[in-house]
Amino acid sequence: MLRRLPEAVVNRIAAGEVVERPASALKELVENAIDAGAGRIDCALRQGGAASISVDDDGAGIARDELALALERHATSKLADDDLVDIRTLGFRGEALPSIGAVSRLAITSRADGAAEAWRIAVDNGSIGALEPAARARGTRVEAAGLFRAVPARLKFLKSARAEYLAAADMLKRLAMARPAVGFSLEHDGRRAWASAAAADPLARLADVLGAEFADNSVPVALEADGLRLTGHAGLPTWHRGTAQAQYLFVNGRPVRDRLLQGAVRAGYEELVPRGRFPVLALFLDVPPDRVDVNVHPAKTEIRFRDAGRVRSLIVSALRRALAEEGHRAAAPAGFHMGGVGAAASLAGRFRAGGTSAPPLELAERASEWQAPLDPALPPSAPPPAPEAPEAAGLPLGAARAQLHDTYIVAQTGDGIVLVDQHAAHERLVLERMRRALAEGRPPRQALLLPEVVELDEAGAERLAAKAGELAELGLVLERFGPQAVLVRETPAALGEADAKGLVRDLADDLAEHGLALALRERLEDVAATMACHGSVRAGRRLGAQEMDALLREMEATPRSGQCNHGRPTYIELKLADIERLFGRR
Ligand code: ADP
Ligand code: MG
Repeated sequence: MLRRLPEAVVNRIAAGEVVERPASALKELVENAIDAGAGRIDCALRQGGAASISVDDDGAGIARDELALALERHATSKLADDDLVDIRTLGFRGEALPSIGAVSRLAITSRADGAAEAWRIAVDNGSIGALEPAARARGTRVEAAGLFRAVPARLKFLKSARAEYLAAADMLKRLAMARPAVGFSLEHDGRRAWASAAAADPLARLADVLGAEFADNSVPVALEADGLRLTGHAGLPTWHRGTAQAQYLFVNGRPVRDRLLQGAVRAGYEELVPRGRFPVLALFLDVPPDRVDVNVHPAKTEIRFRDAGRVRSLIVSALRRALAEEGHRAAAPAGFHMGGVGAAASLAGRFRAGGTSAPPLELAERASEWQAPLDPALPPSAPPPAPEAPEAAGLPLGAARAQLHDTYIVAQTGDGIVLVDQHAAHERLVLERMRRALAEGRPPRQALLLPEVVELDEAGAERLAAKAGELAELGLVLERFGPQAVLVRETPAALGEADAKGLVRDLADDLAEHGLALALRERLEDVAATMACHGSVRAGRRLGAQEMDALLREMEATPRSGQCNHGRPTYIELKLADIERLFGRR
């Protein structure tokens, strides 16, 4: 029998998508507080949010005669017109309150801007109570107790209170990162768990979430193009983690997880961080609302861009630029001086105490990598030191003084010493030269003796043919060959005996997914990296004084020269002050 479902059942079904777990309920409530223009938002959870979640704000409030309406499905104050193209608020679907009310005991107490008194309304698992007068200052308090208590099927899926709490705290911090001007606090089981005061500088908020070290180990990112704007802070390439969890991405102030954006970040850091490692960053993309669709999923964390290609290239170039401008500062010295004085002190601690102290994060690894070369017992095997070159002392990487183990260049700077891994450094220089060639000229291509027919589906063949011009610029010449195939005539010479079929199919996939031919450029860059590795000065080759100085000068002038192509540092710097500390002279 066909029938219309009662409203309570509809809401419970919708709740399945909107409120999956306490973290998603908290997200909806905090988004409402932000949309209401709050300056302070105080949150409290009990038992990971399963027992209760409350959010208190000082925003515009809800008027008495709108309180009941706010609990109705698809009632929202946020869509000015009905065409869904100009969404500037976090909410717009009018689903959160009715959904949460369908699966918990929900109470809303609010005093609207300018109203003389506050009012309260409650819903118990879908049944709405009467309006009652209440007492509170301007703003709204929403409390959801016993979440999913009446929905056993869902209750079963909740994890431990600790795990639910952590997910909720992560959600709150993500929202908070995009709103530095709003003060936030979080309590768990009656104890203060996290707080961050309103701040004018977005970096202060990032530091409250990511830790104070983030400020010292990141570079500002800011780039605008084609009406898109990217701002934020990108962690130095030497400061990486094992998962992408600490990559915070926002579109129009909304935290998102998006493969296109994540891929762009990967490309921006390409060859700067080791494979399988993830830099820490917070990037805020601002897109005119009509060029992005946030209405893909009820949870609103998925998005679609009208021009994915532009978004990607903005992110890649903004990151490359920000990291390159840092030039060699982004190198091992940053790894070394990561925590500033504290890091140097803990490094000294390792030397003295044989590693009993625990330097933060990756620092321990880095520090131990470099213990051996610093061993004072190693006799220099280099030719007589280069003559004094006072003009080089003012240069960032200093004047080359010796080569140790036919592998490390020792240079003297104005206030310290620099150790360079000659192979790692040279590899990066060669790669950057090859990249410039790739970017500037058309890479040489080679004609196939027999043009190769690659069979694809019709949409794939069509997409490739449409991009034939762009692909030819990268050295791949192909044309449409019947409805379901393309004919490959020439391939980039750098790829050697290229597997044209595999390459063309990968490209078709890229085009289907992002509308971009990424695979070809990436492969060309991969090849460049491999060739650079093989064409570089090997460790173990003795270098003359002039060769060493030339290498240092080229490093200073080359972007990204602080890391080799595999993400390891190419040099480290020890300041005299650090050396004095190592000897206990400070
Ligand atoms: P949406 O946020 O999509 O509009 P919700 O169900 O989350 O839908 O909220 C419904 C309406 O209730 C909102 O449009 C808003 O008018 C009002 N509202 C909810 N929470 C608050 C709050 N904290 N302060 C002011 N108004 C609120
Ligand atoms: Mg909402």
